[in-house]
Amino acid sequence: MSRSNLVELAKRRGYFFQSAGAYGGVSGFYTYGPQGATLKDNVEDAWRERFGVQEGHREIDAPTVMPEAVFEASGHLDTFDDMLVACPECGASHRADHLIEDNTDIEEAESFAPEEIADLVAEHDIQCPNCGTELAGEPVEEFNLMFETNIGPGDASTGYLRPETAQGIFVEFPQLAEYARNQLPFGITQIGKAYRNEISPRNSLVRTREFTQAELEHFVDPNEDEPLIERVADVELTLYPAEKQAESEETEYVTRTVREAVDEGLVHEWVAYYLGVGKQWYESIGVDMDRFRFRQHLSGELAHYAADCWDAEGEIDGDWYELAGFAYRSDYDLSKHDEYSDDDFTVFKQYDESKVVERATVDPDMSYLGPEFGGGAADVAAELELLAERDRAAFEDEAVTVSVDGEEHEIPTEKTGFAVEEVKETGEQIMPHVIEPSIGVDRAVYTVLVHAYSEDEVEGEQRTRLALDPGVAPTFVGVFPLMDKDGMGELARELTDELRAEGLAATYDDSGNIGRRYRRQDEVGTPFCVTVDYDSLEDSEGQRASERPSGDEPRGYTVTLRERDSTEQVRVPVDDLPDLLADLREGETTFSELDAPAAEQ
Ligand code: ATP
Repeated sequence: MSRSNLVELAKRRGYFFQSAGAYGGVSGFYTYGPQGATLKDNVEDAWRERFGVQEGHREIDAPTVMPEAVFEASGHLDTFDDMLVACPECGASHRADHLIEDNTDIEEAESFAPEEIADLVAEHDIQCPNCGTELAGEPVEEFNLMFETNIGPGDASTGYLRPETAQGIFVEFPQLAEYARNQLPFGITQIGKAYRNEISPRNSLVRTREFTQAELEHFVDPNEDEPLIERVADVELTLYPAEKQAESEETEYVTRTVREAVDEGLVHEWVAYYLGVGKQWYESIGVDMDRFRFRQHLSGELAHYAADCWDAEGEIDGDWYELAGFAYRSDYDLSKHDEYSDDDFTVFKQYDESKVVERATVDPDMSYLGPEFGGGAADVAAELELLAERDRAAFEDEAVTVSVDGEEHEIPTEKTGFAVEEVKETGEQIMPHVIEPSIGVDRAVYTVLVHAYSEDEVEGEQRTRLALDPGVAPTFVGVFPLMDKDGMGELARELTDELRAEGLAATYDDSGNIGRRYRRQDEVGTPFCVTVDYDSLEDSEGQRASERPSGDEPRGYTVTLRERDSTEQVRVPVDDLPDLLADLREGETTFSELDAPAAEQ
């Protein structure tokens, strides 16, 4: 398959196309057409079902614009950069690490420093892909990917379009923990737009500047909570561990079930659990499992706070693309917001049984500290309190030393009121850890389309087919009259309405010969077509179907039902059709289980 064929089909058949074409288009922005928007909705619904409903996690919907303080805390303001090199001749901007990956055997060049990338650009004589000018010696700079905006008139308050949906969940944690009655574990999902001012958007939906993410933040107690591995224990994972990536020239995978991957210590148990869930979901929406793998982050790629991270990757034309990240992020995100904001990002964890613990306290003699330290007495008292919590041994000598604003002060221990008391504790404040499956919806949709695309021949005629899974196909059934005459058109239109009323996405088509209409639906990816033909005109008792009395009476006539992938057809009673199609959509029956096929018309 050539990528341009798919992109051309996507535009012609209403899947997706570059936005604002009337004004020359803007790189990195796409509009989903009528088919594409429905396909994307169906993919999102399947994600909500698998990651939300089936896991018992709840969804929120936070704003896409957030204040600067959020991104100061999250680190995006400082570090959410890509490496930029600009062509001195034509001015085109390029992602420097991608130039290295495209022109050398180096993979994951993102983990190199800008100076190293600049050296590699020179060493490999890398040229501007746009005009061929040598880029050696050009500066490689860090470019922050966030879109900045002003909140309110003027520029008093800086905001940013969120570069990921996750921060909307982390920032609201104190409130969300209350809804969860402060009970760990709990999971919050969010699906929505994210924005990144990508240096060089490419490969249509793969790298855009506005895209949809589907993220889950699963908050757990690291000391107690464990995943219910048995729910996905037997799911087989194609794993590409870091050591295999470093070790050999050949790509070598390790195939393990989720249970085996955990038992062998290959994957962190929480991450493994969600790799199992993720694989099930990608398979359910029609990603080809022979072109799908989980790749572990190399140590240079792994964020310092992450215990383990694996990307789901899909293969397109021989290249592998990141579709999602599955990371164990420890307490990094919550502790950052805890530190930067005024709120508390911990939860109170009640012990099963209360414990008696020793606590060191001070009760400084202010009649001594006051005259001794004047206005600084309160600060000295506060430092004494901190010291008692941190280092009891410091109070064993005659005098205690504390430091206030860099100046050391000595206080006789007897004036500190130091004591150790026994107190009963019923629980403690803990900072939850988080597991984050972060899925790109557009890359999922694109991979589904690429993996579904094929060209074959049917009865000597070339056809293009999108073998979309019936569960996500935007149009589920095409309904045609053989010809729009002798009442066949009316019956087919009536049937279309009826199927729509049953919640099936049906389309009516009577233009062109029947073969062309099938080809059209094959190209759109419609799994089934129904044709009302001359045999349909009479019911089983020989009565003309179009003249039968209206109402709930059975109609008794038959239609042909054709399957897209095999092009086979069966005759089925029209009265059974809605239930039959619903079963096919839900996967409760398969086409080959229906009656013996009739020949293609
Ligand atoms: P990449 O390395 O490809 O830029 P990333 O590692 O920065 O991706 P994450 O921050 O982990 O991506 O985002 C999670 C998911 O969001 C990605 O796996 C991908 O599916 C999606 N995503 C990220 N950036 C884009 C983009 N520019 N266009 C479309 N989808 C994207």
